[in-house]
Amino acid sequence: MARILVTGGAGFIGSAVVRHLIDNTEHEVVNLDKLTYAGNLESLASVSEDSRYRFEQVDICDQAEVKRVFEQHQPDLVMHLAAESHVDRSIDGPGEFIQTNLIGTYVLLEQARAYYQSLSEDRKAAFRFHHISTDEVYGDLPHPEEQEGELPLFTEKTPYAPSSPYSASKAGSDHLVRAWHRTYGLPIVLTNCSNNYGPYHFPEKLVPLMILNAIEGKPLPVYGKGNQIRDWLFVEDHARALVLVATTGKIGETYNIGGHNEKQNIEVVHTICELLDEMHPRAKGSYKDLITTVKDRPGHDMRYAIDASKIKRELGWSPEETFESGIRKTVGWYLDNQQWCQRVQDGSYQRQRLGAGS
Ligand code: NAD
Repeated sequence: MARILVTGGAGFIGSAVVRHLIDNTEHEVVNLDKLTYAGNLESLASVSEDSRYRFEQVDICDQAEVKRVFEQHQPDLVMHLAAESHVDRSIDGPGEFIQTNLIGTYVLLEQARAYYQSLSEDRKAAFRFHHISTDEVYGDLPHPEEQEGELPLFTEKTPYAPSSPYSASKAGSDHLVRAWHRTYGLPIVLTNCSNNYGPYHFPEKLVPLMILNAIEGKPLPVYGKGNQIRDWLFVEDHARALVLVATTGKIGETYNIGGHNEKQNIEVVHTICELLDEMHPRAKGSYKDLITTVKDRPGHDMRYAIDASKIKRELGWSPEETFESGIRKTVGWYLDNQQWCQRVQDGSYQRQRLGAGS
């Protein structure tokens, strides 16, 4: 049994990691989260009373508080997910992305390094710092409309070429993490994952936005032609992969994680509409009637696709959900959990933070 410090554990993927750790392992979890607009403790309602779970409302940029958390909780492992994560927000205001994703990661690395150096040799041998990142650091790949034949995938050796302030800040944080390994010997592992979808996703991202707008009869805005390709992975498959890498990955290594589910955005929206037509029919017509196009995002990457063969070969991970099974579960979850959605949409989920403590 280990004590795992999870940063960003109140976010979409972080909360899936925390639920997975509490529900399926013996590990203890300390969730360190600032609770920005993207942090929602209601996503952890099913595990928050467990004696193996602790919460710390802390900003990763706050050096003194991060130091206190390391000293007080004595983690065996760090899983670093805290980040500003929404590309459109990074285009409107990059400052927070530089602050949290770069400065915050730097502060965390420095505190992890000081803490690691204070450990006994036995505990040092077991310690790891796992940095969770995105495939967007690699830039974009040729699109089938531009190039014929077999198309390339991102591998762990693909050079970095980030396009947005978000992906550039994540790329910078990846470089910091590798430098802290090479220069200071901090034992790190790193993962780069494709687009996630699933329960408890904040409704500014494509999948939940489309589901909730559709249920409310609002337009379904699709960027440009909707032909951008993403490689979709069900969030619980990602959470399983992350815990596997954090606990068994080889120190200093990077693992790409993906679902082998390349879909155009418009295909994803069509699938959601078809599932809603079946599970929650409109009085008249199809949900597809609500689709509208909006001006494309500047610098929009056209295709992402992951080669996940290394994590399969070396650690034995592969996704359990297909896109078809995962998206069906996701649409069903949003239909069954309208109260969670309602409280996010009216902002009342942010009131829970007043009573939040360790
Ligand atoms: P999210 O935006 O849903 O959650 C981020 C969490 O970090 C929130 O709980 C927020 O309160 C917290 N946070 C933000 N700034 C903080 C700070 N300064 N101090 C402490 N906590 C802070 O993000 P997500 O989608 O769950 O992504 C988690 C991680 O996974 C990110 O690092 C992201 O880059 C990476 N990632 C995401 C995807 C995806 O599809 N969502 C894919 C690959 C990788």
